[in-house]
Order: sequence, then structure tokens, then C-alpha cells
Amino acid sequence: MSDPDRSRPGPFGLHTRAVHGPNPESSGPASTPIVHSATFGFDGLDALNEEQFKGRAGAYYQRVGHPTLYACEQRLASLEGAEAALLFSSGVAAVAAAFMAHLRAGDHVVALHQCYGGTHDLLEWGRERLGWQVTLVDAREPASWAAALRPGTKIFHVESPTNPMLCVIDLAEAATLARARGARLTVDNTFASPIGQHPLALGADLSIYSATKSIGGHSDLLAGVVMGSDAAIREVWRVRKTFGGLPGPDVAWQIERSLKTLPLRVAAANAQALELAKRLTAHPAVASVAYPGLEAHPGHVIAARQMSLGFGPVLSIDLRSAAAAEAMVNALTLFRHAPSLGGVDSLVGLPAHTSHIQLGADGRARAGIPEGCVRLSVGVEDVADLWADLEQALAKATVTV
Ligand SMILES: *Cc1c(COP(=O)(O)O)cnc(C)c1O
Repeated sequence: MSDPDRSRPGPFGLHTRAVHGPNPESSGPASTPIVHSATFGFDGLDALNEEQFKGRAGAYYQRVGHPTLYACEQRLASLEGAEAALLFSSGVAAVAAAFMAHLRAGDHVVALHQCYGGTHDLLEWGRERLGWQVTLVDAREPASWAAALRPGTKIFHVESPTNPMLCVIDLAEAATLARARGARLTVDNTFASPIGQHPLALGADLSIYSATKSIGGHSDLLAGVVMGSDAAIREVWRVRKTFGGLPGPDVAWQIERSLKTLPLRVAAANAQALELAKRLTAHPAVASVAYPGLEAHPGHVIAARQMSLGFGPVLSIDLRSAAAAEAMVNALTLFRHAPSLGGVDSLVGLPAHTSHIQLGADGRARAGIPEGCVRLSVGVEDVADLWADLEQALAKATVTV
């Protein structure tokens, strides 16, 4: 396999690090042993303290960190080129821990209108309970961001590409702006995956994931990740230890196993998403296609510069009316109607009924989400089968309306 990412540190290429982890060993088990123990025994106080003071790297008590989890975290950090990675029991637990770690009561945070719905819920909760001051900016209007960031701003939180309209944020520009104001840039990199985009290398302080999506990749587990420097992660680890939301040994092992094929899965799904985006652009029932891999997309040039292995598995189409969108989703068979993305299995969803239901029709219009919007997450099935499914469903949607 060729390595699209030779600039990363260390002697091994991306695919080798995915399969073997950062420290390949030729002897011993080929698969990381699952250590189920909730606690660990020691010969004496010195040995106990030595292990305890290793923190997340120790085998001391499972809530602090545990060997199966730590092996997975090291493999994740190596894939992103981060000093450290921390796993959480969900993506929202990861975002919440990143915010809790770096915001005090009353601090100011700037985020995108287009952020994940759960992140909006978290910001609202922080506003209510912790006095966080929250300013939202539009992903499509980078010229407006500078005015929103003020001297007391502690976090600028972005996603790229965004859900569901795939707006692209220039991450290097966002990092420069945050740094100039003394704020940290946190990036929810779920849509791109840790190998499809490297926010830390572009100047971000933390990169955050729902590992439920591409990292897990098989629609069979819930988890989250935060990556960054040792110093930035130390505070996040304190939050994890305090609130206690981390995956157990079985899920940690499942995630590590998934990482071995992450580059293969991401490259395959991204290539199919681009192919389907092109075919959908030419289809008469489709008013427009939002996908950063298309040259006509407003964020294409930035995406081409900052993404690798393609442009992500998600694309959105506008079918001109809510009725047509609903008819299409009901007619699809291979694309499962389910609220997730980034897995080997193709999924479809109506943002007006799921991720963006709370915005209402007016809010969706302001966010640039048409009522005929259908979001597709493309998997690794045969592209001919996926296209046949889309064509038959589009035919039914056109007849219905
Ligand atoms: C799914 C998702 C989350 C939340 O992750 P969970 O694992 O469902 O808690 C956060 N951000 C983005 C961009 C997502 O797609």
C-alpha cells in the first residue's frame, strides 16, 4: 500500500502503523490481550504508587485508565500524529470533557451554528449551569469570526466538514485567529477521521471524535476520542477520571481492531462517496449536491489542501421538497434509514427529522439546510449496487411528488 501521508513522524507509514500500532513487536500475541481486571494488586506500597503515578498509562484501577484502553489510545495517537489520545464512552462525552477541561465558570466560547446538535445541547447546559458565555458564528462567513472572538474567549470550537451541508472551515486560519486571541482551537474531526485530516498539524489544540463513526466503523459500538499534546490532554484526563466515562476492555479492544483497517475503509468509502456525488449531480431529480470533493463546492480548494485520502463519506442532496426527500428515504433499501455515519454500511437520514429537528424550518433555512435535504453516508458496498438503490429510490421520489 502506498502511504499518502509520509510527512507524519516515525519510521512507519500509515497502513503499517494502523496494522501494527506505534511499537511493532514480532514476539508475543498478534492481537492485544483483553485485560478485564477492574483493579490490580501490588507486592508493596512502592509498587502501587509507581503504577498509580503513571496515570492513564498505568494498570492500577480501571476508571483511571487500563491496559487494553491504553494500547488502543497509543495506536490512535500514532495515526493522527498526536502526543496523546484519550478514549471516552461516547463522542459527546469526549466533546464535554474537552470543554470542561479548558473552560472555567463564566468563560467565553465561540462555536459554529453548524455544530453537531449534541454540542449545541452541551453549550446550552454550560450556559445554564456554569455561566459559560456562548457566541455562535456561521461556518460560511469566516470574515465574521474575528469579531466574535474577544480577549476572554477560551475556546473556538469548529467542525469541518460540517453536518449536513459539508461547509469547509480553513483550520489553519481558524487556529491563527484563536491563537491571536489567546483561545484554544478545538476541532470536531469526526467527518474527516484522524487519517483524513490532521487538525493538530494545522495548529489546533485538541482534535475530537465520535469514534462511533469512522473509527469504530461498523455501526456496533459507541465511543469518543480527544487527542492533543501531553499538556493539553492532562487536563482532559482529569475530567475523565472525575466523571468516569470511559470504554471498558471489550470496547477498547473492538476499537483497536477497527483501527487496523481504518485507512482502507476510509479511502474506499471516500472514493465511493465522490463517485456517487458526481453521478447524483447529473441526475434530474436532484437540485444540488453538497460534497467538498466536487469542484463546484465552495470549500473545495480548502478541502483539497487540508484533507487526505479523499473528502469524507458524507454527502447531502437537495430534492426540492420535504415530500420528495421523505419518499426517497422510504424507498431506499440498501441505504439503511439510521442516524449515524462513517461505517462500512451505507446509511441515509433526513436532517429535518433527526440531527436538526430542534432548529425548526426557519432555523434550518438560516443554517442553509433545505427542506428537501437527504444526507447519505456512503459505505464500502459495491458502488453499482449503491447507485442502483439510489436510482430506483429517486424514481419513486419523483413520481410521488
Ligand atoms: C455523532 C457525532 C457526535 C457525537 O458522538 P456520539 O458518539 O454519538 O456521542 C459528535 N460530533 C459529530 C460531528 C458527530 O457526527
